[in-house]
Amino acid sequence: MSDIEKLVAEATAEFAGISEMALLEQAKARYLGKSGSVTELLKGLGKLAADERKRAGAAINSAKERIEAALNARRELLRHAALDAQLRAEALDITLPGRGQGSGGLHPVTRTLERIEALFRSIGFDVADGPEIEDDFHNFTALNTPENHPARSMHDTFYLENSPGLLLRTHTSPIQVRYMETHKPPIRIIAPGRVYRVDSDATHSPMFHQVEGLWIDENVSFADLKGVFTDFLRNFFEKPDLRTRFRPSFFPFTEPSAEIDMSCVFCEGNGCRVCSHTGWLEIAGSGMVHPNVLRHVGIDSEKYIGFAFGMGPDRLTMLRYGVNDLRLFFDGDLRFLSQFR
Ligand SMILES: [Zn+2]
Repeated sequence: MSDIEKLVAEATAEFAGISEMALLEQAKARYLGKSGSVTELLKGLGKLAADERKRAGAAINSAKERIEAALNARRELLRHAALDAQLRAEALDITLPGRGQGSGGLHPVTRTLERIEALFRSIGFDVADGPEIEDDFHNFTALNTPENHPARSMHDTFYLENSPGLLLRTHTSPIQVRYMETHKPPIRIIAPGRVYRVDSDATHSPMFHQVEGLWIDENVSFADLKGVFTDFLRNFFEKPDLRTRFRPSFFPFTEPSAEIDMSCVFCEGNGCRVCSHTGWLEIAGSGMVHPNVLRHVGIDSEKYIGFAFGMGPDRLTMLRYGVNDLRLFFDGDLRFLSQFR
């Protein structure tokens, strides 16, 4: 093998053994640089005779080209290897599902409240609001609940420590009282909101929701109460055949008073486990507003009359979605809540 061929073999072997780009560039300088082996050979051409020079020049140029080719091939290889290593290091598993943005959703009880508000607004009712921390007068006295009434007991009501006379409202009726204090009849409102009682089991939570309704005018009758409430239930449950019945009852702030039952939405009144095989579900309390309540807020009870009702939107939500434990609504468990998105 000639010296030139040896040089090509040596360069090719050396390049092949290098795995770092910087070292490869240094090796290149040893062959192709200003004082590299190939460059030295080319410089030596001048000393040769003309015909010899031509042959040797061609051989050296051929060697130079092959060394450059080996260098470029190694460069490409190293560049690809570096790219591969980088890609492996920054690997993304594109088969993983995206994290995305959770779309969230309204709480099922909020949905029910919005539905109730929309249905009553559609027949001309206003939606009233009031404080959750109430005073004794608005929560009890104005509602014809005397000092010795059991609802006032410590066992039933959360009183505020160090703030005598203040308590967490036990119903949304004080909203109605406050509204009647500041508005003249005709009054047509619903009062939705959170209320608090000392109570906790599968169907009672210490915090729950109520929606009360009130219609005061010169000529409002029990028949209007029956019509408005029955119509509301039929629309709420989307059951035009739903029936209601009014059972005599007692509430301090209404006279006469009635419990409202509706035909069971699960068995259409035939009897099932949910309605304890009676075909009926208790759904609300109601009655004609007691004249004493009107007097307490300065409304002429000889001229004006009206009805009131109160219902539990939590219970309505349970019935509408078939939920059997009230506490699920307030545990904040996303596995439960996300079913309502
Ligand atoms: Zn039933």
